[in-house]
Amino acid sequence: MNLKIAIIGSGPSAFYTAQSLLKHNSDYEIDIIERLFSPYGLIRYGVAPDHQSTKNVSRVFDRVLNNPNVEFFGGVDVNTSPTIDEIMNIYDSVVVATGMTKDKDLGINKKNISGYYGATEFVNWYNGHPEFRDLNPNLNIETAVIIGNGNVAIDCARILASSSIELENTDISNYALKILKNSSLKTVHIIGRRGPLDAKFTTVEIREMDELIDCDSILAKGTKNNIDKNLLNDDLPKQYRILTSFNENKPENSAKFKTAEFNFHLSPIELLGRNEVSGIKFKNNLSSEDNPIIINAGLVISAIGYQGEIIPGLKSDDSGKLIHNNNKVKDRLYSAGWIARGPTGVIGTNKHDGANVASLIDRDIKTKNSPGRQELKNILNKKNIRYISKEDWFIINQAEINNAKKESPRLKFTSYGEVFKLLDSL
Ligand SMILES: Cc1cc2nc3c(=O)[nH]c(=O)nc-3n(C[C@H](O)[C@H](O)[C@H](O)COP(=O)(O)OP(=O)(O)OC[C@H]3O[C@@H](n4cnc5c(N)ncnc54)[C@H](O)[C@@H]3O)c2cc1C
Repeated sequence: MNLKIAIIGSGPSAFYTAQSLLKHNSDYEIDIIERLFSPYGLIRYGVAPDHQSTKNVSRVFDRVLNNPNVEFFGGVDVNTSPTIDEIMNIYDSVVVATGMTKDKDLGINKKNISGYYGATEFVNWYNGHPEFRDLNPNLNIETAVIIGNGNVAIDCARILASSSIELENTDISNYALKILKNSSLKTVHIIGRRGPLDAKFTTVEIREMDELIDCDSILAKGTKNNIDKNLLNDDLPKQYRILTSFNENKPENSAKFKTAEFNFHLSPIELLGRNEVSGIKFKNNLSSEDNPIIINAGLVISAIGYQGEIIPGLKSDDSGKLIHNNNKVKDRLYSAGWIARGPTGVIGTNKHDGANVASLIDRDIKTKNSPGRQELKNILNKKNIRYISKEDWFIINQAEINNAKKESPRLKFTSYGEVFKLLDSL
């Protein structure tokens, strides 16, 4: 009898784990259980739509999914049903690879004010995530503020600062493209609480800001004066050389409509506005005096990091990271990826976790004659949960590719309704 393994989540860490498991033993029966109707986690809903080449890694994962011993159960959320305990009861080993799906709290007032979003919400919105398609941010505004100095902050800024030509041939959701196209946005501020040489942007992302068709990227006035001149030498990593080469003024007679301004040494203290955001107040970290800086803006996005969701029945720390020892949570239960390691690293970073978890499982696994897949199907049927199988996903995937316009790689389905309609029509 094949040993039965369930992996919860279907992002890079889940697929790298499955891939490594199959290298250890091609007879493992592996079920990938995913909350959404589509696999690949943040490759689909995090990676920016204008970064298609990054998404190509999903082709490697397609091959894993194509393995006859691997099945996909989309639309199944272990936070609701079936629970981790139910899954543990019917599999020999279980891997939790659910990522970190919530925004880290900015710790200021008025979180529910309209016009203020966490990066998770905004990124999921433009990427067509079914739970965020109705976010509908008001972009009939002049100024946006993005808080954070990492690549996710830059992704948000770049999407806002891009022209529709730059976004048209991507897989950005149609509704987001329409709102962005009609936007009156002129200025995007990107805010760091420390200096430019502390920013976490990578070279590619910062260079892209310098190459936008309709947006000039500049530094806030005085930024260069605050940099230690001794550090501005040839040893400076490339991303900082590019960033510090930006002007402090928009070029005179620039034909570009938009401006992205990088501001540093500012910590947010208060969102302004009654029902809608009208601005945000910052503490100037370079000043010992109480002279806050206010930026008036109709949109504020906080991109300061991610937080894991609590999974019922499992212990997490304050950041939502699962408590584990070298990826082992307890007997027969393992964790991989962001939920184990925290929200850092690129897609490839998860490969190591996957390999480690697969080795541990391969070393420890014993058969307990678990029913696995067939019993999961029975449970889902009893609970009236309609799941998306891998055959269903292949149909959805092909339909998305077929529905794409022009050079765009795909037109994503953004609701379960659309997906079920497609599957029921066959
Ligand atoms: C906005 C953004 C942009 C990024 N861009 C890049 C980039 O350009 N290049 C790069 O290399 N890296 C990028 N990364 C990092 C990369 O996406 C991560 O390293 C990687 O996705 C983490 O993999 P994971 O499997 O741990 O989590 P995820 O990719 O988040 O996958 C977790 C999966 O678990 C599912 N899940 C969650 N809860 C449940 C539940 N209760 N039941 C069932 N399923 C559940 C989720 O729906 C999701 O599909 C980006 C990250 C973000 C946030």
